[in-house]
Amino acid sequence: MEINEAVIRDVVAQVLAEVERGTTVSPSSYAGRHGVFQDVDQAVAAAREAFDQLSRRGMEDRKRIIDHIRRISIDECVELGTMEMEETKIGRLEHKIEKLKTLGERAPGVEFMRSEVYSGDRGLAIIEHAPFGVIGAITPVTHSLPTITGNAVSMIAAGNTVVVNPHPAGKRVAAEGVRRFNEAIARDVGIDNLICVIAEPTLESAAAIFSHADIALICVTGGPAVARAALNSGKRAIVAGPGNPPVVVDETADLDNAARCIIQGGAYDNNLLCIAEKEVFVVDHVFDRMLQAMERAGAVRLSPNEIAQLTRNAFTEVGQDKHLAPAKEFLGQDAAVLARGAGRNVPSDTELLFGETDEANPFVSVEQMMPFIPFVRCRDADHAIARAKHFEHGFGHTAMIHSHNVKNMTKMGKIMDTTLFVKNGPCMASLGLGGEGYLSFSIAGPTGEGVTTPLTFSRERRCSMIDDLWILGKPK
Ligand code: NAD
Repeated sequence: MEINEAVIRDVVAQVLAEVERGTTVSPSSYAGRHGVFQDVDQAVAAAREAFDQLSRRGMEDRKRIIDHIRRISIDECVELGTMEMEETKIGRLEHKIEKLKTLGERAPGVEFMRSEVYSGDRGLAIIEHAPFGVIGAITPVTHSLPTITGNAVSMIAAGNTVVVNPHPAGKRVAAEGVRRFNEAIARDVGIDNLICVIAEPTLESAAAIFSHADIALICVTGGPAVARAALNSGKRAIVAGPGNPPVVVDETADLDNAARCIIQGGAYDNNLLCIAEKEVFVVDHVFDRMLQAMERAGAVRLSPNEIAQLTRNAFTEVGQDKHLAPAKEFLGQDAAVLARGAGRNVPSDTELLFGETDEANPFVSVEQMMPFIPFVRCRDADHAIARAKHFEHGFGHTAMIHSHNVKNMTKMGKIMDTTLFVKNGPCMASLGLGGEGYLSFSIAGPTGEGVTTPLTFSRERRCSMIDDLWILGKPK
């Protein structure tokens, strides 16, 4: 490590903080790095040191650490959100800012930690939730710093530290956010490097994290390739994988509400959310009225010719099997950009484009992440639910229905078998944003943990007292 004045100042500040707090932790040899590393071994060593220091602190300190992450995410959301927008060049600035603020406010923290107790004739057993140690995390370009923020809050709440391999196209904002978090935490609490980030992430650095002996657990948030890599890593992995969330609209739906919800969810951050409405299956009986409701709610309808032109431009063949993927020039871009790709000019503040397609259109089958939503005409609710099931591809991620027919809701819920199933609301309502529940940007479908919380990143430990401390028991 290069020793300069700033590093010495940080070490001295850390020692003084320790003395003031009456703790006996020795300063970390990586103090002053504020979590930004080129090398995986160094990052893991620094995170391990930070873990050892955190292990000697109480829950109050975990909360205090998390409060710094929350404060920075909220107070600096405009600057950091703008940085993320300028670097990744996908999505919408207002939502980049809002996502950071929302994660700062709502990511599950120490308040989610709890213990379970069994008491009875033979005494008392307490089950507590202990940390794993250093967690290796992989984060997506669609929400680079927001995912790190949410992961860090929940992982630290459970007593872990984390090394992040961010998406290369979101690495600068990842490093800057992590630097700010650690700097504030080190200054106040005296522990640096609780969150470490690889400044120049590659597939090789991801593989090095996956196979590192001191990484106790992996948490990946991303598409099919990284999900597969994590599951093949030989380590316990929490996998927040891809989705292709379908929407069903039946003849009992409140069409104006359905339109508003589809626009709110499908247009958010230009459709980058993994839970976002991606394709809509509408029963024939209300199909034309549903499209009119979309127009009334402010979305712009494309003609069949315009959709054909957009479809030709918006997808590209990738991989050896030449499967279709969103073209870089259109992924996460504004509706006005997509409209130009369709040979049409729309106002720059247009949130969402839509139109009728058949189910063979790639906007239906591909996880498209663009603010154009295809509407497919279906015979009846059973047909719509069957097509929704087919095009969700078995990811088991998210599905929506707009209906007032409880039988249809129940049938779709059972058939889809998704982690999130939303009725009569936009996708984000399932994360407590306009609905009940709590929020995380790592929704672990394939490995079953669901919307992640601190308990997701903990291991159970049981402490048993034999024949004593059951104070309700009969006198001996
Ligand atoms: P991506 O799969 O291209 O990349 C995600 C991360 O994985 C990046 O850091 C990338 O560098 C890394 N990566 C990719 N292939 C890898 C491999 N073979 N080994 C190791 N690391 C690898 O996805 P993206 O475009 O950044 O993000 C969008 C995807 O993420 C979508 O599929 C979306 O559904 C998914 N996502 C899921 C959730 C969830 O909670 N389930 C949340 C956000 C995004």
